[in-house]
Amino acid sequence: MGAANMTKTMDAPRWCTTELGKRAWAVGADVAAPHAASVDRDGRFPAEATQAMRDTGLLGAMVPVAFGGEGASLLEVSESIRALASHCASSALVLAMHQIEVAYLIHHGETTMLADLLRQVATGSVLMANANSEVGLGGDVSRSICALVHEGGRVHLEKDVLALSYAEYADAITVNCRKDPEAAGGEQVMLICGPGSFTVTATGEWDTMGLRGTCSSGYQLEVDEDKDMVLTDTWSTVVNQTGLAVTTVSLNSVWLGIAEAAAATAHASVRAEARRSIGSTPASALRLAELVVVLGQARAVLASTTAHIMAVGGGTSMEDDLPLVLEMRDLKLSMTTLCADVVMRSLSVCGLSGYKRGSKFSVERNVRDVLGGALMANNNRFYVDNAQLLLMVKSV
Ligand SMILES: Cc1cc2nc3c(=O)[nH]c(=O)nc-3n(C[C@H](O)[C@H](O)[C@H](O)COP(=O)(O)OP(=O)(O)OC[C@H]3O[C@@H](n4cnc5c(N)ncnc54)[C@H](O)[C@@H]3O)c2cc1C
Repeated sequence: MGAANMTKTMDAPRWCTTELGKRAWAVGADVAAPHAASVDRDGRFPAEATQAMRDTGLLGAMVPVAFGGEGASLLEVSESIRALASHCASSALVLAMHQIEVAYLIHHGETTMLADLLRQVATGSVLMANANSEVGLGGDVSRSICALVHEGGRVHLEKDVLALSYAEYADAITVNCRKDPEAAGGEQVMLICGPGSFTVTATGEWDTMGLRGTCSSGYQLEVDEDKDMVLTDTWSTVVNQTGLAVTTVSLNSVWLGIAEAAAATAHASVRAEARRSIGSTPASALRLAELVVVLGQARAVLASTTAHIMAVGGGTSMEDDLPLVLEMRDLKLSMTTLCADVVMRSLSVCGLSGYKRGSKFSVERNVRDVLGGALMANNNRFYVDNAQLLLMVKSV
């Protein structure tokens, strides 16, 4: 199903400039949006949208052309996630997390087996998830309790994962762990568990206020993999060179898409009110004008940091570029705050219609979804880390 076959492509908003973004917008409008309410209500995986992401090439878009993909840039990927988030935040978060794992494969998948997996990703047949968090460590991913056990050419791993999104629907899972049972907590590597190499057993439930379709329950993960599926680079190298940049842009694209959806609803609500009283500007239009200023700030900060990251280039070590690290971490702090502000202002503009579930101008799902941004890696952690980082940089 290519872009030309999708019915709503022409409705994509002005900010949706790339072909990939427009393709994602069509998937969002035609497939994700009609199912978004039931995904949210039933806390179920967005199976229809994910299938459409497979069919339209969204899952494989970032894979380099040499491996069968489209070689989409971080900007194009960001736009596609944002476009999807305008229709269903859970679907967009699935795409965002998948793309982060694909980036690890692209930049650090040195073995033949990992290159083969990347070629499979390009076909859309592999949805990737991550098992980075661990029970007992909260959101601290700089240490692991679990450890790889080497046995001949195989590695075995058991991990008690704090939250593993769409675990039961993923074809491959990336997981950080100590490199062996004797290693210290910070001596971590990343294992990519390919199709058929792992089992997941739920240890909790995912009955949350928002982002309900990501199905991010706790899971016991058991893996039996080939040793060639372990990345040669250490976990800290992988995070510094790739993880921070791609995670920052991808996840913040979700929060922006949610804010844009709420702002679009607020805009429609004000225009409807204006049509009822031709010749006068509704009072809510002033509040809308204020809201659009905040939305512009969120858009600008994401665009500027994405441009800085792309100028440095994927796969380049950013650990020495402390100002950029600070900027990326600040982006998350800005975006999660600004986007939540836009959504709350949208609620104020739409009034009771915005508060009601199922109303034409409802933003209640946006309100619940956007609040997840500040928790998905807790903002307090970022502030504490930035406070230390600021002592090391020469200027702000
Ligand atoms: C929608 C969603 C999807 C997710 N999907 C996945 C997934 O697919 N895979 C995965 O591995 N994980 C996933 N997670 C988990 C996520 O990555 C974090 O591990 C988790 O949100 C952290 O939970 P926490 O807030 O309880 O822990 P913490 O980050 O430990 O925070 C707990 C409390 O301690 C405070 N705190 C802790 N440490 C510090 C510090 N150093 N400085 C200041 N305050 C501190 C925080 O402010 C907070 O109040 C997901 C989370 C969400 C919300």
